[in-house]
Order: sequence, then structure tokens, then C-alpha cells
Amino acid sequence: SADQASSVFERRESVVRSYCRSWPVVFDRASGAEQTTEDGQTFLDFFSGAGALNYGHNHPVLKQALLDYLGTDRVIHSLDMFSVAKREFLEAFEEHILIPRGLDYRVQLPGPTGTNSVETALKIARKATGREQVVSFTNAFHGMTMGSLAVTGNSMKRKGAGIPLHHTTTAPYDDYLGGDTTDFLWLERVWSDSGSGVDLPAAVIVETVQGEGGLNAARAEWLRALADLCRRFEVLLVVDDVQAGCGRTGTFFSFEEAGIVPDVVCLSKSLSGLGLPFSVTLMRPELDLWEPGEHNGTFRGFNPAFVTATAALREFWSDDELAATVRERGDQLRRGLEAIGADTGGHYRGRGLLAGLHFDDPEVAERVAAEAFDRGLLVETSGPESEVVKVMPPLTISAADLDRGIGLLGDAVRAATP
Ligand code: PMP
Repeated sequence: SADQASSVFERRESVVRSYCRSWPVVFDRASGAEQTTEDGQTFLDFFSGAGALNYGHNHPVLKQALLDYLGTDRVIHSLDMFSVAKREFLEAFEEHILIPRGLDYRVQLPGPTGTNSVETALKIARKATGREQVVSFTNAFHGMTMGSLAVTGNSMKRKGAGIPLHHTTTAPYDDYLGGDTTDFLWLERVWSDSGSGVDLPAAVIVETVQGEGGLNAARAEWLRALADLCRRFEVLLVVDDVQAGCGRTGTFFSFEEAGIVPDVVCLSKSLSGLGLPFSVTLMRPELDLWEPGEHNGTFRGFNPAFVTATAALREFWSDDELAATVRERGDQLRRGLEAIGADTGGHYRGRGLLAGLHFDDPEVAERVAAEAFDRGLLVETSGPESEVVKVMPPLTISAADLDRGIGLLGDAVRAATP
């Protein structure tokens, strides 16, 4: 019963999870940008499953597509085999995403989660180049398995698992050192100098906006300089679009605005549209070097996710309407957060609907999240010391709901900053 369920969650010492700590309620149902608890309290969602619910909760069109599929005998487990659902997804992905953007990628289906996509990218980069090193950035987040954790710039997460930094060089992300430089002189120097002791890497892996790392947004010119550096040294550029992709920043891929074309792209989170586990790794055709069976996995062929992903691509990406709306709402959010920050010492970070308010004192950000929760608004914190209030509403949120949430957040920030 519901009572028993609550009591299990209350025994925190046995089931402690960070989200249970910050939001001590039991959620029962959700629709669009709202989540409701089992005792009927409704929250506005500025979290979106950490980017897994860009189209809101239980979108009726996506849910219906899944229900229709489940009602047939075409529900099959396909692993690496061909299935109708897989074909329809690949065709829709080509039609709505790759062809309109002039992109020529092979689609690998690496497994259910974002970290599977990152591992796949790292592995294929090593195979394709015959090199071992990877360059990643300060405050990067790429996942919780061995390879993705090794390129994650958060020592608390890494050291706890005993993951060393071998095979990895950490470079400063855009603006990490302050100033507006776009040069990568030191990488250029060590890569050119055979006596530097630094091997030429297989790949550079980067997020265009660091969702977990504090909503740091790289400038387009910095990304272009990075892409140019990689091209000159024949180092593969991997963009991890697991969190920033699927429309979050105002274009389907977050790198479109910078006009760069990565060699490899990681996508997951909102790809299935309905929150089902699903990821892809896109790679330039000449990088697709695996023999059958060389890189496999049981849940690479999760057909229910193909079905909802296909429905999401058709529903939201057959024209530019959603992307244009995200850009508008992103401006609205930026203005709202800047106004809140002006009175309270918070600083806007981010791009589109992947944004945040940075506070110098991490305790302020924690208090803001708690005050927001008390007012019926779900926001998380982000950054190396959880010093950024992270704001990620569903992309489908109405302008009125976004304003309402910004109002609640403003009240929360004022209550948390005496
Ligand atoms: N890359 C990025 C940029 C992410 O934000 C995340 C998840 N927060 C991951 C990879 C890992 O995804 P998953 O949790 O699905 O393994």
C-alpha cells in the first residue's frame, strides 16, 4: 500500500538516495510540467528528469504510440537483430534529424543509458585512431561507468570509485581560467612536441553546456577553435549531447549553433521522449569499424524506446516550431533569472532551457532548492559544490507556466538570501 511505500522511504539509512533527501515526498503521477504526490500535492517541474523529459511527463501522443505498440504481438526483443520498430526509428532519425541538417552519421545503438553512449564513443575513437589518450575538461560530466568516469572532471565522484586519470588529460573548459581566450596553445604545443611526454590523443570529449558541472556554457567561437584544433591534429572530436541535446539549447543538437560537425556524438536522456532508457552514438561513416559482435549488448534493441522515439521525432522535429519556442522561452528564462540574480547576488549561467543561477555560497543554492520545494517548485542544484541552482523546465512548458515558475523561484531565492 501507499503507507508501506512511504515507510520504506522514511527508513533512510537503508534506502538513502540524494533525491529522496531533497524531495521528501512520494510522487504518484505527472502530466506535462507538473508532478503530483500520492497525497495530492502538485509541483511545477523545473527538473525534467535531469533532461530525460524534454517533452514533459506522459506526453499523450508518445504514450499512445507505446500503448498501441504494446497492444500488438510485434513487441519483440531484438538485441542486434533487425526489427520493424528499429527500422522505423532509424528512418525517422534520418528523415527528421540527419538529412535536414546535412549530417552523414552512422547510428550505433550502444545500450540503454547515456554512459553506454560515452563508452562506445571512447572505444571507437581508440579503435579508429590506434591511440589511447583522451582529453576532457574541468567540471565535465560523462557518466558513472569506468571509462566515462575517467573523463569526468569531478574528483569526488572519481576518487570514490578509485578511478585514476591515466589515459586522460584534463584541459580548462571555456572561461575556466577567466578571460575570453579561444586559443589552445598549450595543447597544440604538447601535441606537436614529441619530447613533451604527452601522446597525441584519440579524442577530445566535450559538452557544449556542462549540465552537471554548473551550467557552464562554452562560447561558439571557443567550440569552433576546439573543432579546428582537432581537425588539424586528426584528433576525433566527441560531443557529449546526452543532456544538452534533443532540443534543450534551442536546436536539436547543441553544437548546431556553433556550426561545428563533431566526429562522434553521444545522445540519450530525451531521445525516447517518454523517459524510457535509450541512447545512440553517432559516428562519421569511416569510423564505423566494428566487426559484427565486436561491440554488442542485450538491450541495444529495446523496441518500446524505438517506438516512442519515433513518435517524438515525428511529433516535435518535423518542423522548427519546438526549437523556435525553446529559443523564445530560453530568452524569457534568461531575463527572469537575471532579474532575480540582480537583487540577490546570483549569476545567470547556461543556454536555452539549460540554465542556472550561480551563487558564491553553495549553502545559498541548497536553501533556494529547499525554499522552492516548499513553494511547489522542483529545482536541483549543480556544480562541483552544488553552488548553482539548476533550471530545466520541460521544453513544452507554456510561457505562463514558465513565468509562474520564475516567480516561485524568485520568492525562494529572496527567502534564502536574507
Ligand atoms: N553525459 C552527460 C553530459 C550527462 O549529463 C549524463 C547524465 N547526467 C551522462 C552522460 C550519463 O548518462 P546516464 O546517467 O544515462 O548514464
